[in-house]
Amino acid sequence: MPVPLNRRSFLRIGLTASAAVAAPSWLLAQAAAPDRVQQGRDAAAKTPIKTTKLADNVYLLQGAGGNMVAQTGPDGKILIDSSFSTAVPAIREALAALSKDPAFTLINTHWHYDHTDGNEGLHNAGFKILAHTNTKVRLSTPQSIKLFHLDLPAAPAGAIPTDVFSDTLTLKPNGDTIDLAHFDAAHTDSDISIHFHKADVLHCGDTYFNGFYPFIDESSGGNITGMVNASQKALTLAGPGTKIVPGHGPLGDKASLQSYHDMLAGVRDKVAALKTTGASEQEAIAKKPTAAWDDTWGKGMLSPDMFVGIVYRTV
Ligand SMILES: [Zn+2]
Ligand SMILES: [Zn+2]
Repeated sequence: MPVPLNRRSFLRIGLTASAAVAAPSWLLAQAAAPDRVQQGRDAAAKTPIKTTKLADNVYLLQGAGGNMVAQTGPDGKILIDSSFSTAVPAIREALAALSKDPAFTLINTHWHYDHTDGNEGLHNAGFKILAHTNTKVRLSTPQSIKLFHLDLPAAPAGAIPTDVFSDTLTLKPNGDTIDLAHFDAAHTDSDISIHFHKADVLHCGDTYFNGFYPFIDESSGGNITGMVNASQKALTLAGPGTKIVPGHGPLGDKASLQSYHDMLAGVRDKVAALKTTGASEQEAIAKKPTAAWDDTWGKGMLSPDMFVGIVYRTV
């Protein structure tokens, strides 16, 4: 999910995990929690926002958090995701450079803090916040992300979605039709797709990591089959020219989403077969079931072994 994990981050997680033998769990949580969020906030404070025009009035905004999309027009600006709190000044500058339209609606793709930590600052700047019901529930209550040994407090009141939906919702702002649809639990249980029909832009949130093995948040209901199904559903929403925005990684298209889907389904099937024959998680990892995909997908956020572990536990 949040900040891309390099080797050092994982070493740090490993050290933290072994320290758990000696340290009480509450101390571990206290020590680890601010660290990961702070790492992201520190990175976001220094990272400029890169703006890419996707259509007449729709733009991709990229910084240190999850990928954002902005739509401009007379009804006011729509923004998808809010990155880290420390990115808010740069996001507001990037939005101001697009047009003079007022703030209107911030949409969260899911609850994770690399997509919602900026909510409060943008709400203060005039955005109402729209998300899936489960995003509101999770932001309103303390959450844990087990893989990162991370415990998060409830988000501040100003960061909580002001409007929610549970299945689908259609908006018609600024001359376009925007369809929002909930995915069955995939990366989390709060994931949605956001589809701008006229602009032909589809934001898939963190159900889509373009170019590397995705993080799947087991603690929030995420699971590999949900990820396979979510990418399949997104493929049915996309047309041949649709610009497909992943939660992390470069802008994608139908071909790149198809290869991501095929990788997820292939890894899922291989790991499921190992589990069915009685292999333990460590035995499944040792068999290197992702070997055929590692050159392409294994050099990003998650190591192949970590990805196999998540797939094994959630399949
Ligand atoms: Zn993310
Ligand atoms: Zn996420």
